[in-house]
Parts: sequence; C-alpha cells; structure tokens
Amino acid sequence: MDLNFSGISGGIEGQEAISTKLLILGSGPAGLSAALYAARADLGPTVLTGMELGGQVSLTHIVENYPGFPEGVGGNELVELFQKQAERFGAKLEFDSATEVDLSQRPFIVKSYNSTYLADSIIITTGATPRHLDIPGETELTGRGVSYCATCDGWFFKDKDLIVVGGGDSALEEGIFLTRYARSVKIMHRRDELRAGQILQNRARSNPRIDFVMNTILTEINGNGSVNSVTYKDIISEETDQLDIDGVFIFIGHIPNTQLFEGQLEMDDNGYLLVDHLMQTKIPGVFAAGEVADSHFRQVITSAGMGAAAAIQAGHFLEDISS
Ligand code: NAP
Repeated sequence: MDLNFSGISGGIEGQEAISTKLLILGSGPAGLSAALYAARADLGPTVLTGMELGGQVSLTHIVENYPGFPEGVGGNELVELFQKQAERFGAKLEFDSATEVDLSQRPFIVKSYNSTYLADSIIITTGATPRHLDIPGETELTGRGVSYCATCDGWFFKDKDLIVVGGGDSALEEGIFLTRYARSVKIMHRRDELRAGQILQNRARSNPRIDFVMNTILTEINGNGSVNSVTYKDIISEETDQLDIDGVFIFIGHIPNTQLFEGQLEMDDNGYLLVDHLMQTKIPGVFAAGEVADSHFRQVITSAGMGAAAAIQAGHFLEDISS
C-alpha cells in the first residue's frame, strides 16, 4: 500500500494526518449506534459515513419493526434521528469514505478521499449491498415498488401481485414470507433449476399463492412514480413480453462491503467479516458490526445492537491500552 505516510501526509497532499481514538467506518444503524455509545463513553468517535448516509435503511420507505415507533418511521427520518442523537453527545460525522486501510500496526492507518486518519481502534460497519439486476427502471423505482427487503416492505403489498427475482434460498424464503400479504407471488429464475435447498423448494411449491417462472429474466421494470409492469424475456424462445405487476422483490445475493479489508481480516466464503461474540476481529482493536459481519439477521435492530456492543468493547480495549 502506498500511503506515503511520514507523519505529515493526509488524503490530500500536505495535509496533516488526523489522530483519533476511535474511527467508525460506515453510517448505517450499526455505525450510528456505535457512534452514539462511543460518544457517550467519551471516546470522541469520528464516523466516515461512506457514500450513503444511513446505508440500506435510508432506501426503505418506512420502518415498522424498530421498537419505539408504533406508527412506523421513515427510513430517512430514522437515520436523521440516529445521526442527531450521536452528534448530540459529540460524535463527529465526516461525509467521506475510506479508500485504503492498513491494519498491520497501531495506530491503524485509514486513508479517505479527504484525509488520512491514525486510529487506535476501528469499528467496521460498512454493510452489504444487495446485488442489483442493473436493468432500466430498477434504480428509479427503488422504494416505489422495487424492494430488496421483504420484512421491511412486504406489508405494503397486501392483496397485490408480486414478482420475486432469484432462485436461491433468499428468494424462496422471502417469496414464501411475502405470501402473508400478497395475492400472488411469481418467483422468476434465470435457469430451469433452482439453487435453493429442497426443503424450501417443497414448501414454496406447495404454497398455492406461489408460481414459478423459469428460464426467464427481467429486462425492464416499468412505471411512472410506482411499478405497474415488467418486461421479461424467455431465454429459451427469446420472446419478450410484458406483465402487469405491483411490486418486484429482488433477491439475487448480497455483496458485503469488505473489499478494503481483503488479506487483512478473516472472512467467510461469501466475504463477510468474521467476528466473535464480542464483535472482535482477529486484530485487537478492530471490531465489526452490522451486516458486514452478519449475513443472517440483517435487521435494523440487530445491526444497531451489534454496533452498540462493538462500541462498548472498543471502550474496554482503549481503556486497556491506555492503562
Ligand atoms: P444465492 O444463493 O447466491 O442465490 C442467488 C440467486 O440469484 C441464484 O439463484 C442466482 O441464479 C440468482 N442470480 C444471481 N445473479 C443474478 C442476476 N444478475 N440475474 C438473475 N438472477 C441472478 O443468494 P441467497 O439466496 O441470498 O443466499 C445467500 C446465502 O445465504 C446462501 O448460502 C444461502 O444458502 C444462505 N441462506 C440460507 C437461508 C436458509 O437456510 N433458510 C435463507 C437465506 C439465505 P443462479 O442460481 O443461476 O446462479
């Protein structure tokens, strides 16, 4: 890594590196909860927010399963409240992203677009990104009928007709979940064979509200303000057609945002960071929380809890090294 660090170099040439006790990478529920706990413990945390303040939850229209909000709360509003609460106790948010990380010595060196940081401890909460289809209409209609989270958005599709894209465990599990609300769910898969395990396949096939559309890909999601149809292609006949639909749920895998840590931290086969029950990675002083270290629960509340736990442990770590 060429950090050109000699005590004076920052992310911008000639700028001094910034020393901090605790640097938090990411500003989703895990990052902002870690910031709140760390700020209240007088650790003076700095948060590099990443490109999307609030992470995936900021894309969610309304969150109805976060305790304390019996009427639900907008995803953006929840992020603003998290931010406000963390800042009230002194957390410093920088609208910046880490670009290089060196965890081989302490203080850890984190280079961002605007600065270089020297951090005694780090909490990684960089999250995961749902894999996208990258087809026309998908981005424009996200939160307006296109969703990557059945638990978050399923309720809005009572008695509606839905398409679920994907053939893995997530697509089937979430598709089955969506039949609690939807009138019909078409699971659309690009091959003639599902990737999902047999038990889920059996459960989905015996669900009267689920149909399978195999060997088919979506080519466009249509709607003006909200989804009203999709264009799809049968990859055997190569025929294209259109179908009226109310919503499209896409479950074609997640990509944990761990590229920065490759070769430095332990990851599972899917690239998620490995932590113990105290949110510690193998490197003392480096913690990880939220979806970057959790491919299983992926909920706002579980990520927030992991973030709080990581901050408490970072506090113990900082106390130990200063005594
Ligand atoms: P996954 O197993 O990687 O499946 C992704 C699915 O999306 C595959 O069917 C894949 O098609 C399809 N796909 C990928 N890119 C696509 C594209 N561009 N266009 C259309 N389709 C595309 O992901 P997952 O279902 O999220 O599961 C991730 C891991 O979590 C797996 O290990 C899974 O077993 C586990 N999981 C387990 C459970 C459970 O046990 N209850 C529940 C959820 C997840 P192909 O099949 O053609 O590649």
